[in-house]
Amino acid sequence: MSSLEHHDLLAGLVRLHILNHAAQHEIYGQWMIDELARHGYKLSPGTLYPMLHAMERKGYLFCRRAREGRTVRKLYSATEFGKAGLALARVRLRELTGGGMKAKEKARQKKSSRRSRGRAETARAVF
Ligand SMILES: [Zn+2]
Repeated sequence: MSSLEHHDLLAGLVRLHILNHAAQHEIYGQWMIDELARHGYKLSPGTLYPMLHAMERKGYLFCRRAREGRTVRKLYSATEFGKAGLALARVRLRELTGGGMKAKEKARQKKSSRRSRGRAETARAVF
């Protein structure tokens, strides 16, 4: 667990990041490690894999095994429970990141983001 700085604080965000992608497409461990690195999270397989397994055990992720040549790859996607948790976390994150905004500004931003952006892009802005 030492590969992730401020682990206690950021582990939740990393889980949400995983869910965010798993809700859009199937993911696998190494892809997720590379993707998280792109966002500044340096996770070792020894940190990420137990995280994926725990999220599967808790019902956030569904895992299927796909044969690729001689190896079997585990592909994860978000369950309905996981998507519901992600939606709730997005609301909470908005409260956190938008806390300093005036109500009027907030409403205006909400309106314009609804008009110009799809859900996926809005989510990307949050993370
Ligand atoms: Zn990402």
